[in-house]
Amino acid sequence: MNPDPDSTPEIVTRFAPSPSGHLHLGHAYAALFAWRLADRPNGRFVLRIEDIDGGRSQSEFEDAIFEDLAWLGISWREPVMRQSKRELAYQEALDRLTEMELLYPCFCTRKDILAEINSSAGAPHNHSAYGPIYPGICRNVAAAERAARIEAGKPYALRLYVAKAIEVAGDLTWRDRTRGEQQVQAERLGDVVLARKDIATSYHLAVTVDDAAQGITLVTRGEDLFESTHVHRLLQALLGLDTPEWHHTPMLTDAAGKRLAKRDNPLTLREMRRNGVKGDAIWALAIQNLARLTTAVEGI
Ligand code: GLU
Repeated sequence: MNPDPDSTPEIVTRFAPSPSGHLHLGHAYAALFAWRLADRPNGRFVLRIEDIDGGRSQSEFEDAIFEDLAWLGISWREPVMRQSKRELAYQEALDRLTEMELLYPCFCTRKDILAEINSSAGAPHNHSAYGPIYPGICRNVAAAERAARIEAGKPYALRLYVAKAIEVAGDLTWRDRTRGEQQVQAERLGDVVLARKDIATSYHLAVTVDDAAQGITLVTRGEDLFESTHVHRLLQALLGLDTPEWHHTPMLTDAAGKRLAKRDNPLTLREMRRNGVKGDAIWALAIQNLARLTTAVEGI
């Protein structure tokens, strides 16, 4: 007997590529992983184009994403969400956090931040998985001084006052499907930027607001973003958004064992296609790639 679709909980997954380069095997794995999980009664897979960075996003790469996904046999029913069209939603979230007095303007340049970090003791504690932690230079700038700098046209980003945000939100947890229950430790990334100087949002804000807007119940993404999830869970609590589960997947690697990354120009899906690889062989290739990683680890 077929299971009653209404009795199984809804699962909504997504693939959220940035159109800043051609997709490689790691992206194909991420897309297929999410799509396969949603391929069941009450499953739904959605696509979101993460194109907030106008300087890096190109329509040519976006077109290529659609071609590559079609080649992989991936389809979806709902309209594609484009972050470049979501300014209002991000502004609403920023307004709410401003009302809660959890944001502050940061006028620092990268140079200011590095100089401050280098001049302070205990440097290793000033770094997160993603690089230097913001040392809080602008956190305590007086209100009048802030206003004067803004008035003078000094560019600024908006940062989350994370210690205060944690105080407001209280103890929080999130669940990773492979690593289990996690205690939120948003301070590990410091006062993250929620609106960049050049764009009225940031990765952390946009992804949190959009996952909720698209009703995502299971966020699947690479392990490299694991630490970000602490911040996303905190933002969900502050903004009153639903909390999904997460599944952080292992990263695929090149022949030398280095993580596949766009900036290193790994073999792209379209090159593989040109070389005669079939779209339906890609899942097996991704699994083989991961098995290589496991074998290497076991061989140590
Ligand atoms: N847009 C991000 C990327 O292409 C993925 C963000 C996410 O899955 O949370 O790496």
